[in-house]
Amino acid sequence: MNDGLTFNEVLYPGVQVSYRCDQILYQEKTEHQDLVLFTNPVFGKVLMLDGVTQVTTADEFIYHEMMSHVPLFAHGAARNVLIVGGGDCGLAEEVLKHKTVETLAQVEIDGSVVEFSKEHFADFNAGVLEDNRFELIIADGMKFMAETDRRFDVVIVDSTDPHGPGAVLFSEEFYRNVHRCLTPGGVLVTQNGVPFLQRGELVTSLERFSRIYKDSAAYVAAIPTYFGGHMALGWASDNADLRKVPVDVLKERFEKADFQTRYYTSDVHAAAFALPRFILDAVEEGRSRA
Ligand code: SAM
Repeated sequence: MNDGLTFNEVLYPGVQVSYRCDQILYQEKTEHQDLVLFTNPVFGKVLMLDGVTQVTTADEFIYHEMMSHVPLFAHGAARNVLIVGGGDCGLAEEVLKHKTVETLAQVEIDGSVVEFSKEHFADFNAGVLEDNRFELIIADGMKFMAETDRRFDVVIVDSTDPHGPGAVLFSEEFYRNVHRCLTPGGVLVTQNGVPFLQRGELVTSLERFSRIYKDSAAYVAAIPTYFGGHMALGWASDNADLRKVPVDVLKERFEKADFQTRYYTSDVHAAAFALPRFILDAVEEGRSRA
């Protein structure tokens, strides 16, 4: 909602986050969602989809680094990666820093998000579309996952919340199709909300993961614009060892990868799986319902 001077995120009834809007850079009601990109003095460029903050130039690095480097350094030998969603392409930019990655496919439902991101988010997605390992597919991730015969070592779901077009990406059917398309020992990572305010989403995802994968968990990161405390990232794999890789191995892999980060470190990677009690309770409740 825009009262002329501010954009208010009203994801949670009873509380809202207000961003001063200095300039609207892009606004469109696409085939799939309401899209607005505006500037804010604290967070830089802010993208909202259907009134929910998606990514800002100030803190995107936290989220994009933790959704990419944790599964990729845990896996250690990922060659073929899939992103579902991720229209701003910031996550793709982080995945492509791993020179061991041979192909990265991104299935994004809304071409408009990618189009304007090329111009307005070049500060964090530059080079992605020129990288010959990158393949952009404009499609519903649900349909793609149901029909593809391709196989991936890591699948990262960088979706909106489970409302509107993103809802299907939290379904058991979708998670089953991801499982079908993962190579042995592959891993699924999902955007799974802010447990302090969206506990039910985490419980439900863990319940569904636990019915399909041998190992289901979550890890956390602190993203300032995802209001409400820790952000949970869902984790599902048939290889339980992947989330217990020793820190010295993670460090060795990170050093070998030879790129800089601003949030991710190997110690932060390992610590991210140490969940605060109330989040661990939600994870365990989900597992117990399977
Ligand atoms: N960081 C954000 C968050 O945590 O909410 C997500 C950022 S990214 C912009 C979310 C993307 O998911 C959007 O580009 C949106 O178009 C895409 N998306 C939503 N539903 C989708 C679907 N069913 N298939 C593919 N992409 C989808």
